[in-house]
Amino acid sequence: MSASASAAQVSGTESERIKSLRSYQILDTLPDPAFDDIAWMAARLCDAKMAMVSLVDEDRCWFKAKVGANVDSIPRSESFCDIAIQQQHLMLVPDAARDPRFATNPMVPDTVRFYAGAPLIMPDGHVIGTLCVLDDKPRALTDQQKGFLGALSRQVAALLTYRQLGVRDSLTGLFNRRYLIDALERELHRSDRRKEAVSILIIDVDHFKHFNDNFGHGAGDAILRHLAEVLNDNTRREDVVARFGGEEFVVLLPGTQLMEAGVCAENLRQTASRMSILYEGRILPQLTVSIGISSYPGDGRDINTLINTADGALYRAKRAGRNRVFAAQLTAAA
Ligand code: GH3
Ligand code: MG
Ligand code: MG
Repeated sequence: MSASASAAQVSGTESERIKSLRSYQILDTLPDPAFDDIAWMAARLCDAKMAMVSLVDEDRCWFKAKVGANVDSIPRSESFCDIAIQQQHLMLVPDAARDPRFATNPMVPDTVRFYAGAPLIMPDGHVIGTLCVLDDKPRALTDQQKGFLGALSRQVAALLTYRQLGVRDSLTGLFNRRYLIDALERELHRSDRRKEAVSILIIDVDHFKHFNDNFGHGAGDAILRHLAEVLNDNTRREDVVARFGGEEFVVLLPGTQLMEAGVCAENLRQTASRMSILYEGRILPQLTVSIGISSYPGDGRDINTLINTADGALYRAKRAGRNRVFAAQLTAAA
């Protein structure tokens, strides 16, 4: 049994841990001086050859920052961090060659003899990775160095948390409008270079005011949270799902043509209409959504035009009776 499989069984919350890690949208991002600085400080303060901000993904450890090493990731089954994240405190391996857990690790004894990893404990309680220092000789850390490593690991967690707060909607946990606009801008540039399409969906809950009036704002909030999960669970990892305003959501679909976007939208519409939500002991009545689609570059070459065009299609979907998907190009004359 691999180390990761046993970790999953012990905690029973491995899939939630992965969900928590993914919510930070940090995996496979470009190097960032703020994290590089922390790794550098960890290496210097602990007088270590190597230091990493290491994130433990499903099958790999991916390094957001690294000092003294030039790999982006290693298999999870070969990583010390996979063991370190099973505890809430610093894990020390003074001599890996003499530690039965690591003696047969391919990095031992030539590359790694010493390891110290401080867990990255996030506000939801999940440990998503470590700040670790490594050396090619057996050694120890002073109490002060252990303190430094712990404090710096908390700084990494704080940096991730504050960055996330700035881009997330507090009710649903989805990306906020500001993040969506930034992501759209990036995606349009990328599509230009790659000559690819990008599509957006604007999704609006039907008759939501009426629902709030009848069942209360709390029930309405529960619906919005549940719908956010439906949107997240039924889109790809590279798609950006955002709360655009009150009961309006936008899904950005990179590299996606209009027809494909239509299939995605139709699936979302149907799944949303089947949502069954228990709120304060009763099952809330089912709701529907209407969806407007626009695609770049056919429906517009800038963000505002694309959003307005999708909004126009949404408006026509509402007028045509709600609970339907309309695409800008196919309904312009309707
Ligand atoms: P339509 O089918 O035309 O979209 O009708 P609608 O009632 O959904 O649209 P309208 O724009 O008239 O009303 C939107 C409602 O969404 C009004 C507001 O009470 C509700 N709303 C907006 N933000 C929130 C929120 O955060 N929580 C809750 N519970 N309701 C919200
Ligand atoms: Mg509405
Ligand atoms: Mg609306």
